[in-house]
Parts: sequence; C-alpha cells; structure tokens
Amino acid sequence: MIRFENVSKAYLGGKPALQGLNFHLPVGSMTYLIGHSGAGKSTLLKLIMGMERANGGRIWFNGHDITRLSRYEIPFLRRQIGMVHQDYRLLPDKSIIENVALPLIIAGIHPKEADVRALAALERVGLRERAKHLPSYLSGGEQQRVDIARAIVHKPQLLLADEPTGNLDDALSLDIFSLFESFNQFGMTVLIATHNISIIQQKPKPCLMLENGYLR
Ligand code: ADP
Repeated sequence: MIRFENVSKAYLGGKPALQGLNFHLPVGSMTYLIGHSGAGKSTLLKLIMGMERANGGRIWFNGHDITRLSRYEIPFLRRQIGMVHQDYRLLPDKSIIENVALPLIIAGIHPKEADVRALAALERVGLRERAKHLPSYLSGGEQQRVDIARAIVHKPQLLLADEPTGNLDDALSLDIFSLFESFNQFGMTVLIATHNISIIQQKPKPCLMLENGYLR
C-alpha cells in the first residue's frame, strides 16, 4: 500500500528530519513506528498525508507516486486516509456526533446520511450512547475514541495515528491499541507512531524504528 524509496526531508533552515528511508507497508498490515521525540515520526506521517513534501526520493500509495501530486490532487489522497491525533482536536461547542460527522459534511454527504455513518463509527469505538454529549462531558480516553471514530468515519484504506496514547495511562493505552488491532482485523492498513515502547512490547507487531531521521 505504501512504499518509501530513499525518502528524505529537511525543513527550511533545519537539520534533516528524515534521511534515505526505504520501507514497504503491505495492504492489511499493522505497523508501529517507534522513536523518541524529534526522531521524525510526525514528519513521516505528514509526508504520507501530503501535508509536507519530501526533498528527495519517492513515496508510492497504491502504485501512485504521491511525492508529485498537485494541491488539487491531495484532497483525493486524503480521502483514502484517516488520521488520529494525540490531542484529539475536537470542536468543543459541537456534540460528539457532529464532531464525527464533520468530515462527511465537508465532503458533501447529506447530513442525515452523515449522522447514520457517524453513529456507526461511534458504535465501533463503544461510544454510540454518548453521541449527543459535548466533548467536555467525556474523559480523555473517551475523547481519544471520538477522534478515532472521526478518523474512520469515511472508511479509509489506511489509518495513521500520531502518538494516539500520548495523553493516556498504560491501561487506556492498551485499550486504544486493541481498538486499532480490531480495525486491522477488518482489513484496514494501520500505522501507529508512538514512543511508548513498553506498551507495544506487550503487543508484538512489525515495527519501524526511527532514530534521528534514520530507520534502524
Ligand atoms: P517526532 O514526531 O518523532 O517527535 P518530528 O517529525 O516532529 O519528530 O520532528 C523531526 C525533526 O524535524 C525535529 O528535529 C523537529 O525539530 C524538526 N521539525 C519538525 N517540524 C518542523 C517544522 N515545521 N519546521 C522546522 N523543523 C521541524
């Protein structure tokens, strides 16, 4: 599904964030991207999302070179990807269901249909009963699940997560990783960036280890 060929990225005026990366994520795989803060994890995810551009090399998504997409083509790429954030990014004055339905509304889906799909996504993260609540009524772990529901509401082929358990304790983190595993068992390709090595040792899966922009 994703292939990196000799990919490098340096931010303007900064030292290289990623250097000569080569790897392949097959369709239906689940992979942890591990590295300390500053190792380049977010940058790697942003390159896949088309939020940053590589300075060298090629990135293939389902056989298409996405390093050369125009800004008009990038929205089509993003429709195939879901992104989970560390800091949830929920709109505080919108209900849970409105938060989850938002990407569908933006994509032009009829609001009634968007609500049906948002409820189904909330069901998959165990929060259907909380649909009408505001985010502030939910715990941190529940808000993270809402962010996950919003990331899968458009049924992406690829799910990316950037430190999805950064604000959670170990027990909640394990629950969240199990949730990603359940999506993967239904065929979604999953890539999770985390520095939480002790947790993923309890959940052995293929790993990419990043250190100062290099894959080890
Ligand atoms: P991680 O997600 O593993 O913490 P990042 O990808 O955020 O790592 O950062 C990798 C390197 O790139 C770091 O040295 C960071 O300071 C730098 N960096 C990240 N984003 C930017 C940016 N927008 N501008 C300049 N440098 C950046």
